[in-house]
Amino acid sequence: MKGVVTVTGGNKKKKVKTIKIDTDKCNGCRACEVICSAFHAAPKYSGNNPARSRIRVIRDPLADIYVPVHAGEYAVAECAGREKYTIDGKEYDECSFCRASCPSRPEFKEPDSGLPLKCDMCEGEEEPLCVKWCMVDALTYEEREEEAEEQEEQEELEIGLESLADKYGMQKLKDAIARMSKKD
Ligand code: SF4
Ligand code: SF4
Repeated sequence: MKGVVTVTGGNKKKKVKTIKIDTDKCNGCRACEVICSAFHAAPKYSGNNPARSRIRVIRDPLADIYVPVHAGEYAVAECAGREKYTIDGKEYDECSFCRASCPSRPEFKEPDSGLPLKCDMCEGEEEPLCVKWCMVDALTYEEREEEAEEQEEQEELEIGLESLADKYGMQKLKDAIARMSKKD
């Protein structure tokens, strides 16, 4: 989920973008991983490597279980909860639904720098590309407007940067930002 703040008629509104996931429709084709990593390659579409994708499909083909998970907010601490879920007779593994870039999960780490990856809803595109490329409609894009909290976006940004600085050190963070700005 991603929030974009807009001002309409004096009220601050936040456009909330979400992708709904229907795990029963997902067939584990991994097209979403391919297009996401290609879109985020530098330069764009110069290659594809699912290890750089902001969506990963947790798979157990023998049990016919496929769970697409988006990279969410970075989490400093590993969560203590370990659950199993049964939905429509299918059992889903522990952590399958966690969207956080969890320190215990390698799926959402940038392979070169180790920095957490986060879904940006394909910034600049009308519709998220993983949704467009999912041929079986397991992913559905939705937008809605909500009242925005004062300074919410700025606070989110600062919390995110502080967490990254805590984990990786300020110099590593500055180097990563400098590298990213050269790619734009
Ligand atoms: S593209 Fe759709 S069906 Fe294929 S793995 Fe991704 S979510 Fe599942
Ligand atoms: S919305 Fe875009 S950035 Fe997010 S997982 Fe899908 S393809 Fe990747």
